[in-house]
Amino acid sequence: MKVGIIGAGQLGRMMALAGIPLDIQFRFLDPVPDSPAGQFCEQIVAPYDDIDGLTRLAEGCDVITYEFENVPAKAAAFLQLRTRLFPSANALEVAQDRLSEKTLFVQQGMEVAPFRRVDTLKDLESAVSELGLPAVLKTRRLGYDGKGQAVLRSMEEVWAAWERLQGVPLILEGFVNFERELSLIGVRDAEGNTVFYPLVQNTHREGILRLTLAPAPNVSPTLQANAEALMKGLMDSLEYVGVLTVELFEARGRLLANEMAPRVHNSGHWTIEGAETSQFENHLRAICGLPLGGTATRGSVAMLNLIGDTPARSDVMTFPETHLHLYGKAPRPGRKIGHITLLAANEAERAERVGRLERLMGV
Ligand code: AMP
Repeated sequence: MKVGIIGAGQLGRMMALAGIPLDIQFRFLDPVPDSPAGQFCEQIVAPYDDIDGLTRLAEGCDVITYEFENVPAKAAAFLQLRTRLFPSANALEVAQDRLSEKTLFVQQGMEVAPFRRVDTLKDLESAVSELGLPAVLKTRRLGYDGKGQAVLRSMEEVWAAWERLQGVPLILEGFVNFERELSLIGVRDAEGNTVFYPLVQNTHREGILRLTLAPAPNVSPTLQANAEALMKGLMDSLEYVGVLTVELFEARGRLLANEMAPRVHNSGHWTIEGAETSQFENHLRAICGLPLGGTATRGSVAMLNLIGDTPARSDVMTFPETHLHLYGKAPRPGRKIGHITLLAANEAERAERVGRLERLMGV
């Protein structure tokens, strides 16, 4: 079995690390030589929309997948004609546009922040008068880690954000006073079987994920079951195959869907050691037509991202029940270069260990 993957960053690297024990082979496409996955797997060095590169990627691969959602639509369509592409070009297209993704959430009965399509300054001004301030203006496409968006608190900020972001399709969202951010990772195979990981709690700083607690504290079985039921409907409607992540806001006991990622996700890295089957292995199982694996959690788990810099290896490796992951990337400010997973017997022990590790990391 050979899997082709678009993007050879850390997510691709962790997919390969999960697939090698199952005797799955990998071929990557990435324009940057010596990428995290290319350091130990076959890598085609070419742009993501290069026809020759895409043809070589597809040749002899049983299935193609991707590690990031900004795969050019044309590349996805090209691959889908030649071989199997999971998640499908249609799922990818929906996830690439905040307007179509939010519209689908609403169709599926999921709650979302109120939103308006914005193409002109007039659209923006009437959206602001309907939704009120504060509000969040976002580019519909190509935003990530908080880029391509602005929080608007006054009309001056509205006009300044328009000057900065205009020229591409936009969406205005009502500002959600959320208590916390959660995410749900689900997996669906081609027969429609699904499994879900527990809701996890995510903390961001400067738009970048820093800490995931799995399971999230204080999640009732009802909240988990409702979130799973909605996500199952979403995945069924897309005939989705693979891992899907939905990012959610929790506000006064309600879950509002913010966005979805049609891929393995940073908030699921904890599953490598913290769950019965990792998100990476389950993604491969789903796209390769293998049975999905169990998602049970091994105690109370935390994942801390290493951004820009890492503590000394030996300091991390002497922590109890702690696993260090380095992605083979050169340190640079704001860059995700690794993560740490720690396991604990219960939430109190997890909180104590997270606190100690954060102090070591200078947080
Ligand atoms: P996004 O790119 O949509 O994931 O947004 C990045 C971050 O901005 C989120 O993780 C939230 O912390 C914040 N954010 C996004 N949308 C809203 C909103 N409608 N209300 C309040 N905060 C938001």
